[in-house]
Amino acid sequence: MSVPLLSESIQYLKGVGPKRADVLAAEGIRTAADLLALYPRRYLDRTNVVRIADIQAPHPAATVVGTITRTRFHARRGRGSRFELTVSDGSGGFLTCVWFQRARAIANLFKEGERVAFHGKITLFSGRWSMSHPEFDRVDDAGPKLDTGRIIGLYPGHASFDAAGLSSRLFRRILFTWFKEKGAGLEDPLPPELAAEFHLMDGRSARRAIHFPKSREELDAATRRLKFEELFFFQLMMGAIRTRVQRDPGPPLTADGPLLTRFMEQLLFTLTPGQHAALQDIRVDTSHGVRMNRLLQGDVGSGKTVVAVAAVLMAIDSGCQAAFLAPTEILAEQHFRTLSAWLEPLGLYVGLLTGSTPAPVRRSTLEGIAQGSIAVAVGTHAVIQEGVAFERLGLCIVDEQHRFGVMQRAALYSKGDRPHILLMSATPIPRSLALTVYGDLDVTVIRDRPPGRQEVETRLLWEKRRSELHDLMRREIAAGRQVYMVYPLVEESEVEELKDIKDAESGYQEVTAAFPEVHVELVHGRMKGADKDAAMQRFVRGEAAILVSTTVIEVGVDVPNASVMVIEHAERFGLSQLHQLRGRIGRGRHTATCVLMCDFKRSEASKTRLKAMVETNDGFRISEVDLKLRGAGDFFGTRQSGLPAFKLADIAEDTDLVAATRTAARTLLTADPGLSRPENRVLRDYFHAFVAPEGLSMSRIG
Ligand code: ADP
Ligand code: MG
Repeated sequence: MSVPLLSESIQYLKGVGPKRADVLAAEGIRTAADLLALYPRRYLDRTNVVRIADIQAPHPAATVVGTITRTRFHARRGRGSRFELTVSDGSGGFLTCVWFQRARAIANLFKEGERVAFHGKITLFSGRWSMSHPEFDRVDDAGPKLDTGRIIGLYPGHASFDAAGLSSRLFRRILFTWFKEKGAGLEDPLPPELAAEFHLMDGRSARRAIHFPKSREELDAATRRLKFEELFFFQLMMGAIRTRVQRDPGPPLTADGPLLTRFMEQLLFTLTPGQHAALQDIRVDTSHGVRMNRLLQGDVGSGKTVVAVAAVLMAIDSGCQAAFLAPTEILAEQHFRTLSAWLEPLGLYVGLLTGSTPAPVRRSTLEGIAQGSIAVAVGTHAVIQEGVAFERLGLCIVDEQHRFGVMQRAALYSKGDRPHILLMSATPIPRSLALTVYGDLDVTVIRDRPPGRQEVETRLLWEKRRSELHDLMRREIAAGRQVYMVYPLVEESEVEELKDIKDAESGYQEVTAAFPEVHVELVHGRMKGADKDAAMQRFVRGEAAILVSTTVIEVGVDVPNASVMVIEHAERFGLSQLHQLRGRIGRGRHTATCVLMCDFKRSEASKTRLKAMVETNDGFRISEVDLKLRGAGDFFGTRQSGLPAFKLADIAEDTDLVAATRTAARTLLTADPGLSRPENRVLRDYFHAFVAPEGLSMSRIG
């Protein structure tokens, strides 16, 4: 059986032992499954072993296997030492290997007479064929040939691995032993028809071949097979969640109730077509007694909140309460104010629950929620999810869901009340990816913006021209506007690479000096929550004209009076992040300017990226450029989506596999919703053991 086998601890494997097991565990590698999925980060092709006598010309990458005939260490005071050795492979030729760095340490590694394989670039050096700083493996004639004469894997390195002797060489041996002793017990998690349909290598061979490929072709086939599996299980999970939610009943909501009607009549603006369409989707979802599970996607400022409020009123008109979840206290408070202003005139009560709600207020709010006198509870995710009992919860809204990964979503669905769910996101994602990332959801996109909005003008500015920035800031502040300044770091860094990157703290000093008459606030992630919020609130209330911060000023913070966004070292930010930051301004009636301070010396690539920012304000186009330039790994790396990190697959590159696995997973779930057929047994066990989040049991789906 595969699952128990793969769940075994690796501590008892030959070459591991308790000490190394601890080191590996610290990197999340505990079981055989973890070990097998420690894929090589790179491969070296050592099938190309050359006879030294045959070398006629320099060669970019060759392997030579031979005996060390001579070693020489040249110690030179002040000018750096050098270590040389000569290898002979019996062909009649000799090769010189040279080390200039760490020469003393390297010299101690070799003895005359040893058989070693050297890999590297062959050049002609003072008339002799040489390799400088080659890689090398000792060739032990007795053991299996794991290092030479084949394609070999190089494993991820860590300082802790090095210290524990966990080299690529050792990983190869540990894995080799595992396959020899246990590999036969591996079962294929994918049913054979699926493998046949998509021409996939079988599961056992692929797991072995990715570590010990016999050829490039075999490696490619193994990689494709394992990518397929990774994506397939992900799609299966999304499909399972989706099926599960779709089978839940949800309270039927009306769109013709008195509260919603009055709200719409009193609203001071008319909805955009995009907002109308979104509301229509929500109506359809919630009208027929099945649970809604929808994502409302729309760029910052596209007006998602009013759509959410309309949905809240549909719930209340239908005799239900609503919960409104935000990722931070600042956002929760802001939503609380907006909702109160809109709903109190209709005679409704809104409650606020965050980590800093004082105990007595919290108690009476909880009571109001339990009795139903509070119609809407606004709060932070954690607080509302921790056992707030509603009288009758009918709708749950989650704002800025990018802080809320697939797993949290799954947890939300299985909560007791089973309300309709509306997630909102201001992170635009290319269409091709949305299918995967949001495979468990129905998606509505608002593509237009409320009329009369100022397009934000974006400018690139060199450090040399900072005085122009100061002129702009001075003008805007004199006109009563406010300015954001964002820095990539909190404080001065000791890290060499970051030495000349300006940090928020020194930025704050600099700005205070340049604008002595202006109230400047500083906000960053290392401040205490209360201090941070207080500083932020002073800016929100307009008491401070300049807010210096790191990226803690998150999506959703609304200061319509702010008209300038300055981003220092813009080249260090991802495009999507820059776009999010830019979305903080242009919310009022005033022209708004986003200034990207940058240093082009760093890279030509960042120039291309930043130009895309100047050219368009369309978040979807920017996300596509961003994805192309950075690849899916980075694009989704930083809290962007809550997507699990794929080890092999890249959803931006492997689009054909993404589509194929999506279809395959859906077909399978339609045919066998509970995965209860005998031919799906291994798949089902594997899914439960390694993929499905807790609480998502297939038996409850079928
Ligand atoms: P986001 O989608 O980023 O959450 P908000 O819901 O905060 O955007 O809306 C941004 C601003 O636009 C708010 O002040 C809101 O009242 C206003 N707004 C929303 N819809 C419209 C509309 N149709 N016409 C005019 N202003 C609108
Ligand atoms: Mg918002």
